Formats: sequence, C-alpha cells, structure tokens
Amino acid sequence: MKTPWYRKLHWQIVLALILGTLFGIFAASRGWAELTKDWISPFGTLFITLLKLIAVPLVITSLVGGVASLSDVRKLSRMGGKTIAIYLTTTAVAVVLGLLLVNLAQPGKRLPAETRAELEATHQQEASGRQTSASAVQQRGPLTFLTDMVPDNFFGAASNNGAMLQVVCISLLLGVGLTLSQEAKRRPVLALMDGLMEAVIQIVHLIMRLAPVGVFALMANTMVTLAKDDPSRVVDLLKGLGSYCLVVVAGLLIQMFVVYPLLLRSFTSLGWRSFFSALAPAQLLAFSTSSSGATLPVTMDQCRKKMGVSEEVASFVLPLGATINMDGTALYQAVASVFIAQALGMDLTLAAQATIVFTAVLASIGTAAVPGAGIIMLVIILEAIEVPSEGIALILGVDRLLDMMRTVTNVTGDATVACVIASSEGSLKPPSGNAS
Ligand code: ASP
Repeated sequence: MKTPWYRKLHWQIVLALILGTLFGIFAASRGWAELTKDWISPFGTLFITLLKLIAVPLVITSLVGGVASLSDVRKLSRMGGKTIAIYLTTTAVAVVLGLLLVNLAQPGKRLPAETRAELEATHQQEASGRQTSASAVQQRGPLTFLTDMVPDNFFGAASNNGAMLQVVCISLLLGVGLTLSQEAKRRPVLALMDGLMEAVIQIVHLIMRLAPVGVFALMANTMVTLAKDDPSRVVDLLKGLGSYCLVVVAGLLIQMFVVYPLLLRSFTSLGWRSFFSALAPAQLLAFSTSSSGATLPVTMDQCRKKMGVSEEVASFVLPLGATINMDGTALYQAVASVFIAQALGMDLTLAAQATIVFTAVLASIGTAAVPGAGIIMLVIILEAIEVPSEGIALILGVDRLLDMMRTVTNVTGDATVACVIASSEGSLKPPSGNAS
C-alpha cells in the first residue's frame, strides 16, 4: 500500500517548519519570547546535539570501511584530486555569480541613509564581537590549515566536532593502513567497522524520527530571537535590507537550480528532480539548523540510499565537502562585501573584485560548518579589500535568515559533487526510477 503523504518524513518536516514559524511569530506578538526559549527551544538544541553526536562515529566508521575496501590507494588520491578541483570550481562559480548579480542590482546604493545609520547604531556591539573572532582567525599563517589538518592525538581530534578535517585525516590513514595490511588481519577490522556503521545508521534513522519536533522548536526559537517581542521588527528589517536579501537569495537559487542541475546533467545519469526529492530531508534540516555539520549524517544517508552514491565516495566526499565546500557561503560573502562597500559609498575597482573572488573561495574553505560562521570570515574579506569591517553591522540583522538559505546551498553543492564523483568512478547506482 502507498504511504500517505503526511507519513513521509520530508512532509512532516515541512509542516513542522511552517507551524514552528507561525508559532514563533505568534509567541513574539504575545510576549512569550522567554517562555519559548525556556520550554520549547531545548527540544531543538537536543535534536541538533544528537545529530552532532553521531557525526564523528559516522565519518570514522564509513570512511575507514570505505577506504579499506578500495582495491588500491591510487584510486583514493585520484578521487581526492578530482573532488578538491570540483569543489574549488563550483565555489569560484558561486562567487562570480554573486558578484555579477550584486554589481547589476546595486542594492547598497538603494539603502536610505537613515536606515544605514539606524542599522549601524543597533548592531555596533555585535559587529565588534565578530571582528574580534575574525582577528583571531586572521593571526593564523597561510599554511596553518595544512598543519591543522593533522592531529597529534586521535582522541583529541575525535572529541571535537569542529575538527572534522582531522577526523577525516585519521580515518583516511587508518583506511590506507588497512589496505596495505594482510587480508587475514584486515578482514575482522572491516567486519567490525561495517557492523558499527550499520548501528550508527540505525541511530541516524532514530534521531530523524525526532526531526519534526526538533525543527518546530528550532524555527520557533529563530523567530522569537529575530523578532524579540515585536514581530514588526522583522518586517522593518526586511524593508530596509529587502533588495540585498533578494540578490543573495536569487544567487543561491540560480546556483542551486541552474548550476547544480547542469553539472548533474553533464556528468551523471541522475535526473535533477529525483536528486532534489532525494535530498529534501537534508535540505530541510540544513534550513532549520543552519549547520551543514549537523546535517552531514542525513546528507550521507540520503546520498547513499536514495541517490545510489557508493559508500566509499559518500564517506569521503561528503565530510570533506561539509568542511571545505561552502558555495552558498562564498556567494553570500561576495554579495555582502560589495553591498557594504556600495552602502558606504565606496566604488570597488576590478582588482578589488578579483581579490573578493580569491579571498571568498579561501574564506569559505575556512568557514566552520556551524550557524553564523560565514559572517566572521566576511570580516577578513572586507579587510582584504579595505572596506571598514564595522560595515557588517549593516547586515547582521538579517544574517540568520540568509544563513538558513546559504546552508541549504552548501549542502546541495556537497551532494551534487558526491554524485558527480561517484558517476566518474562508475559507482553511482541510482535506485531504479531515479535515473533520468
Ligand atoms: N551556516 C553555514 C553552514 O553550516 C556556514 C555559514 O555560512 O555561516 O554551512
């Protein structure tokens, strides 16, 4: 018998998203912000914590198993090279797209002077907090990311979700070590990894049963945080920054519905409709959590089960993507930096725009897969093009809303590249009915 639509997880999440938003607005208008924070938002926090809890075990078990089952190590380095090249290319395309749109629409020039002064005054303090975080990042040398990738202690790396790249590195090493070991020694370890991975996936499914409750709570909390005790605040903010938001959203939509489908069409046999319907639960989760790191377990599960990406590709390409590939963030950073320059009455030269392309690609690699990380790296871009970084005060008010959307693009970009790599390795087997 066909499952009725309301029993399908992604529809339940959509419903929770809408109800959570409505409830949040209602709660704000009733002055229930504190009540919502005390009694509803902990369920959202719990849901995200559970997802994060499972991310490290999932990456370790699937990557070790995936790499160790590769017949030769050369395949791994070929796959790694291809993956990084495609990730960098899609990010560069996103930045150029963002720059094109923001230069055409010029939203910064339309920002009324009084709105600008008001926004600067309201968000000054928050802006200086972000500047401090950015200067800590900035003090790192150009090759720090390389030394950061290799941990000196396994448990140290595995105890920190922010060190996902280190976890990827350890798992790769262990996988390679196993590939080079004798078959008799390797087999029991692989069987153990396989069994553990199956258990971890079952836990992901259990956690996802809580998704509707978690998403409702997260959306209600986001709304009361944005609106405080006055929903008209959100409307006012959107009025002032509407054209800036529209440019970011238009860019993200073009990246998602034109660039990625083109890639899928050119390099895979997967139809774009099947791709989006398979990825929907992960996208909805990205939207409500604003964290591609927390969404990773679900992205991996959907890519493997619903799109037919092989285990070895999914477990290598997706964790790497969640840490270094952020097309949505890069596009937003490009639009935001030009918007701020325009609003401050500064004209950016072609050289400055080229600097944006370069720094935004690098900054998005360095952006952590957590809510609000993109705006911290934006400070670094602004400094590179000599635009006052206090300017982020102008856009802080709407940042959370745009964060939700850019995270969806980030996750969609990772999944697209996973399909492209799998297809190029002959290991994309869409379940019947999902091919174009
Ligand atoms: N929230 C984004 C992510 O997790 C990063 C950012 O742009 O702030 O993908």
